[in-house]
Amino acid sequence: MKTLPSREDILRALVAWPSVSSSDVRFDQSNRAMVERLAEFAEAVGFTVRVMPVSADGQKLNLVARIGEGDGGLVLSGHTDTVPWDASAWSTDPFALEATDDGRLYGLGSADMKGFFACALHAARAFSAGSLKRPLTLLGTADEESSMDGARALVSEGVVRASYAVIGEPTGLVPVRKHKGVAMQRLRVTGRSGHSSDPSLGRSALEGMHAVIGALLGYRDELAVAPRDDSFAVPVTTMNLGRIAGGDSPNRICGSCELDIDLRPLPGVSIRALREELSRRSVEAIAGRELSLVVEELFDGVPAFETAADARLVQAAEEAIYATPDDPLVNWAESDLRAAFVAADLAHVTVESQTTQTEARITPALLTRWFTPAAPGDRPSYSQRLAESLNADELAAVESLYRNTLTGRTVSWRTVTAYLLAR
Ligand SMILES: [Zn+2]
Repeated sequence: MKTLPSREDILRALVAWPSVSSSDVRFDQSNRAMVERLAEFAEAVGFTVRVMPVSADGQKLNLVARIGEGDGGLVLSGHTDTVPWDASAWSTDPFALEATDDGRLYGLGSADMKGFFACALHAARAFSAGSLKRPLTLLGTADEESSMDGARALVSEGVVRASYAVIGEPTGLVPVRKHKGVAMQRLRVTGRSGHSSDPSLGRSALEGMHAVIGALLGYRDELAVAPRDDSFAVPVTTMNLGRIAGGDSPNRICGSCELDIDLRPLPGVSIRALREELSRRSVEAIAGRELSLVVEELFDGVPAFETAADARLVQAAEEAIYATPDDPLVNWAESDLRAAFVAADLAHVTVESQTTQTEARITPALLTRWFTPAAPGDRPSYSQRLAESLNADELAAVESLYRNTLTGRTVSWRTVTAYLLAR
């Protein structure tokens, strides 16, 4: 392939290759064809492309594409997979991109987040290896919607070392610089079963769990007060009691009971500290009952993260989006860029960066799926089981945003590009 197709044609090609990932094996698919297509587009732009197997069978792949050499630089990161689709929500073929009269493009993954790749590829056309002092890296990860194994593989292999990363998740065109973490725990209370006619024969795990739940809800009440961060729609650390199971019969003393909970810590609240505190309180709640308690992780968990509001990348993205065309500090590539941003009801820009002077390795949090909603309706993660689309104008607007960001058209970004670009 010599020339890069239009943004819309790239999106059409990427949407056409199904790449559903799901922890339910009935829906899970390979992303190989989609990644190979993406690799062709990246090569047409001038990227040096590496396709990395993530799964042993080679059916799940990461794409690592680079212009320029060395550590540091900027990463544009997206995931190549989509969620499964609900056929009843689609009046069109989810894999045939369809433009509608109201200017939207319908297709599975159009917003979350194959559209991002079309924008990033076009923005990257401005660069060649010789023009860069630091590398520009495009990442396409596997299985973000299920196991996050693609991002984990990049981190564990230390493939990418960058100073800045922009993650193209849909956010309502609001730069998002922090998000909550997530952890899921299982608490299991074990007692001794026995016949119901003589309670002294057993030790009820179910009644012990009742005490544990009381302790957890008390802890949750405290977390609902502090710490607090009003920039989140839900400004506190949350705890959800999501599943409980125990006992086998009304005439038996319950010997075992387990409870699954979900925790969403604010930045600054560590998962480990939460776990230790809820364990301590739970053990205390069942003291003296001859019951035991075990707490186990249901998955590895993802810590909360926050990039400082005054980080250069955050400021650059905010200027690019919020500044007016009259602002002499900002030179828009297209006169209607701001109107397009304002009009857009979906976005592709999530901002994240390493703010340290050193070129720290990308952490899992940088490559993870969680993001702060701009408005509830804007989140494809919630709406994507309905027909998914994006505004066609956004493709141009977002490409311009990336390009302006990359070429230093915003003031604070110039300090970054002085570092990124050759003199
Ligand atoms: Zn996504």
